[in-house]
Amino acid sequence: MAHSTLKQLADLLATGKTSSVELSQDYLGRITRQNPGLNAFITVDAERTLAEARAADAVRAAGQAGPLTGVPIAHKDIFCAEGWLTTCGSKMLHNFVSPYDAHVISQFKAAGMPTLGKTNMDEFAMGSSNETSFYGPVKNPWDTARVPGGSSGGSAACVAAGLAPAATGTDTGGSIRQPAALCGITGLKPTYGVVSRYGMIAFASSLDQAGPMAQTAEDCGLLLNVMAGFDPRDSTSLEREKEDYARDLAEPHDLIKPLAGLRIGLPKEFFGAGLTGDTAKAVQDAIAQFKSSALPRSKSACPTPGLSVAAYYVIAPAEASSNLSRFDGVRYGYRTHDYADLTDMYEKTRAEGFGAEVKRRILIGTYVLSHGYYDAYYIQAQKLRRLIAQDFAEAYKHCDVILGPTAPTTAFKLGEKADDPVQMYLSDIYTIAVNLAGLPGMSLPCGFDALGLPIGLQLIGDYFSEARMLNVAHQYQLATDWHLQLSPIMRMETEYKALDALLSVPEAGKKGTMV
Ligand code: GLN
Repeated sequence: MAHSTLKQLADLLATGKTSSVELSQDYLGRITRQNPGLNAFITVDAERTLAEARAADAVRAAGQAGPLTGVPIAHKDIFCAEGWLTTCGSKMLHNFVSPYDAHVISQFKAAGMPTLGKTNMDEFAMGSSNETSFYGPVKNPWDTARVPGGSSGGSAACVAAGLAPAATGTDTGGSIRQPAALCGITGLKPTYGVVSRYGMIAFASSLDQAGPMAQTAEDCGLLLNVMAGFDPRDSTSLEREKEDYARDLAEPHDLIKPLAGLRIGLPKEFFGAGLTGDTAKAVQDAIAQFKSSALPRSKSACPTPGLSVAAYYVIAPAEASSNLSRFDGVRYGYRTHDYADLTDMYEKTRAEGFGAEVKRRILIGTYVLSHGYYDAYYIQAQKLRRLIAQDFAEAYKHCDVILGPTAPTTAFKLGEKADDPVQMYLSDIYTIAVNLAGLPGMSLPCGFDALGLPIGLQLIGDYFSEARMLNVAHQYQLATDWHLQLSPIMRMETEYKALDALLSVPEAGKKGTMV
């Protein structure tokens, strides 16, 4: 069952073929076998998971099950979850057990979905390779010498390895889409404000957005239905009527809303220098596939990717420097052991508790916000941000969805870019503008490079067009099988299961054949 989708697991539960306890045990078994190698989880607590699974089975027995009751899920360690160690990938929070649930967590609990564990991530979600985690890097299940992407690398890796059928992620500049692309899974970053940020540890508040990561677009739709919705505890949560994001994924498939009439925008800026050959080819092939069924379209102009990276690396650190000032050793988390006075305690706590990348961002952030440089950097970046949003608004007059690559390269080797922050920052060159504009974006598998590493196709929609994007992605997945390919680790787990079944056969045959 390592490769079962949420949809399939929900069907097995609904027809009584399995229970939530059985399912959860199955995933926990895989975590025990594979996590020591992958490092995808920071915290696993089988007792807690199984208690939640038993509760879900009781809800089902009482006839009160919802669509996903009993299906387990993993959560990025950026979400506060009551009673769970919640580290955000940092030494600063290595001992922080959350006293409350983030909105996203409480939504999944209310849906009856047991938590399989908290997934590894770049420290405070700053990174594109998961190498900035205090808990060590995550390995990519397609090639364990390579990074899974970041910052939601643990979430992407656990889904790609079959250690969880789905996971939550967060995306400030690409952290759902880029690891989804590098691990060959499907991920969705919703329109800013659709999912509440309450209890999600803040990196850059005007950009952060939570979203689902799973094997298919259909699963992402089901998960977004659980996550989305107004929450008065987040002042940027949008008060909108409840939407069914899976409404255009109906079965039978010939009833699905057709692609005919869909206008596809193809920004030339997304196909320029820096895009590697295999990725360019796979993305072009995917686009060709769309053209045959639905729509050719306009060459929309899009914000120059390089400019969005520049604006982002002023705005995101500025907001981070403010958000991270709360980690001072006084209220919670790490405190230095040896200090002379209060100032010394602050300084040592922050010097010892934060890693190098987080410190770099705090330094940049305080610099661009300082009196002498505010106008030169911060204000300029905000102006650029407005222009980027305007460029997208102009593009959406001529198209419904923009297609392009998610990341310029496939998964790179561990350590390859670790000492070159600018190269690392360029990993998000195609995703960052989407956050600056607050738009929804998705990544879905669209091919493999010569080394057999997955490639991601990015879909960018207009505000609140998640249902349509999911519909477009779902149709692509009905017509292709890239998303069905199994990573070597998942294949191994599938074979392990098969072997298990094989080994139990003699039991059944014993009676008649043994003399
Ligand atoms: N890689 C980008 C960064 O390091 C984006 C991270 C994210 O989306 N959380 O800021």
